Amino acid sequence: MVKVGVSACLVGKNTKYNRGNNYNNKVMDYLKDKEVFLICPEIAGGLSIPRLSSEIVNDTVMNTNGEDVTSYFVAGANKMMAYLKENGVSIVILKENSPSCGYRHIYDGTFSGKLINGSGIFARLAIKEGFKIISEKDFE
Ligand code: SF4
Repeated sequence: MVKVGVSACLVGKNTKYNRGNNYNNKVMDYLKDKEVFLICPEIAGGLSIPRLSSEIVNDTVMNTNGEDVTSYFVAGANKMMAYLKENGVSIVILKENSPSCGYRHIYDGTFSGKLINGSGIFARLAIKEGFKIISEKDFE
């Protein structure tokens, strides 16, 4: 069975900063015949639910209080990467726009809802590690 890592919020886990999720029917259909490994780099890095929303500014992750939370994001990304590698997973489906999981787009760091080209902290690591990355937007 094909092994796939998936952003936990895409399968309905309430791991978002605001206790919500990003349940995606099409992703769920795709996963029906796969072995699924859920990941949430932000929770793995020690952040809580709920938490302040964060955006990337010049490679630093800042929350809405102006605090540098980069270390949590990096720690979580490393933990999730180790988990996937230990289990022989090399494909991930990631939630677009997130400062962790965003693959093609992230917010611009001004907390104004504006998207720019770029990847979140976990997605950058997955790119570096040569993972096959599928954006949730690829199912639209
Ligand atoms: Fe979803 Fe990734 Fe954000 Fe966790 S870090 S809530 S998996 S987008």
